Amino acid sequence: MTPYAWTVIGAGPAGITAVGRLLDHGLPPEKIAWIDPAFAGGDLGQKWRSVSSNTHVALFLNYLNGSPAFRFAEAPPMPLQEIDPHETVALALIADPLVWITRHLRARVNIFQTTATALFLTRRRWKIETEQQEFTSENVILAVGAVPKRLAYPGLDEIPLEVALDPEKLAAEPLEGATIAVFGSSHSTMITLPHLLRQPVARVINFYRSPLKYAVYLDDWILFDDVGLKGRAAEWARQNIDGVYPDRLERCWVSSPEFKGKLAECDQVIYTVGFEPRTLPETKQWGRLQYNPTNGILAPGLFGLGIAFPEYAPDPYGFGQYRVGLKKFMDYLDTVLPLWLRYGP
Ligand SMILES: Cc1cc2nc3c(=O)[nH]c(=O)nc-3n(C[C@H](O)[C@H](O)[C@H](O)COP(=O)(O)OP(=O)(O)OC[C@H]3O[C@@H](n4cnc5c(N)ncnc54)[C@H](O)[C@@H]3O)c2cc1C
Repeated sequence: MTPYAWTVIGAGPAGITAVGRLLDHGLPPEKIAWIDPAFAGGDLGQKWRSVSSNTHVALFLNYLNGSPAFRFAEAPPMPLQEIDPHETVALALIADPLVWITRHLRARVNIFQTTATALFLTRRRWKIETEQQEFTSENVILAVGAVPKRLAYPGLDEIPLEVALDPEKLAAEPLEGATIAVFGSSHSTMITLPHLLRQPVARVINFYRSPLKYAVYLDDWILFDDVGLKGRAAEWARQNIDGVYPDRLERCWVSSPEFKGKLAECDQVIYTVGFEPRTLPETKQWGRLQYNPTNGILAPGLFGLGIAFPEYAPDPYGFGQYRVGLKKFMDYLDTVLPLWLRYGP
């Protein structure tokens, strides 16, 4: 069986970026394989549509127009193009263009609508096992995304993050009179808290570890670009967390003597404490590999991109952050793809 030159696993924003850039580099479409169970814009398109973005519209448009293979200039008019470029938006407005781009990229490369289960390096090729079949590829890009991190406090019913971030799904939960614990101080936290306070809960207790961080827009860079609060989440946090707590909201430092008692008062819990990489597919020889966070290399011919394998880079003052966001995935790929093209098995 002739191997593919490149296989991209995952069709979220990172996988879309990878397929686009491989085509932009002149890779023949028939030499590219692309695997995903849904091809529906990844988690952004399937779970986070109602979430308010932390990126301005201008940067999203910059991303969408950044790959000739995306052919976004040919897309039908979409609401994203009508909005003030300095605004943030619901992620649905970026999910729709991603789905449009996916549809026509799919028509060019080889599609496997399934889940990759394992990888094995043999005879200078990667053997890729999926739930349906197996095939070989000279190089593989893992763009498999991440899942919300969870802490393990016993005795509390957990409300999944994808429910907490979606007002309609949250309204369907039995929340009347409940006391809800929310762990974290992230962008997701500052979206979850106001959503909860619009429900008939008795109380919300936000358990935190450290002061909030806010992004600051400077002339040509953003302080705390990846870890700081932005957009509506930042506005809400300034007024309600670092300002005056709204009725029914309490906060509790996890290292304080009150922590255990406060947690015991809660019925349900929501963890908004970040993300961790998805586990599948694993390599058969080495299990789960560590990636190099400055160039994405996992092994010869095996590379990681997207929220599961973000670039780690310092800002102009030397503060290091993991870089997560659509345009960042594209810019990073532009710096590492020349290496990847020369680092086959
Ligand atoms: C609250 C929140 C706010 C956000 N705000 C912004 C923002 O303002 N700006 C911005 O740029 N981004 C934002 N994001 C999106 C962010 O950039 C995400 O990190 C992005 O969706 C990650 O893309 P990805 O392609 O790495 O992963 P995903 O979107 O998770 O896609 C991974 C894909 O891989 C598939 N997959 C996984 N395992 C396998 C396998 N074994 N075989 C085949 N397929 C597999 C999955 O099914 C999925 O389709 C936000 C995300 C969240 C949660």
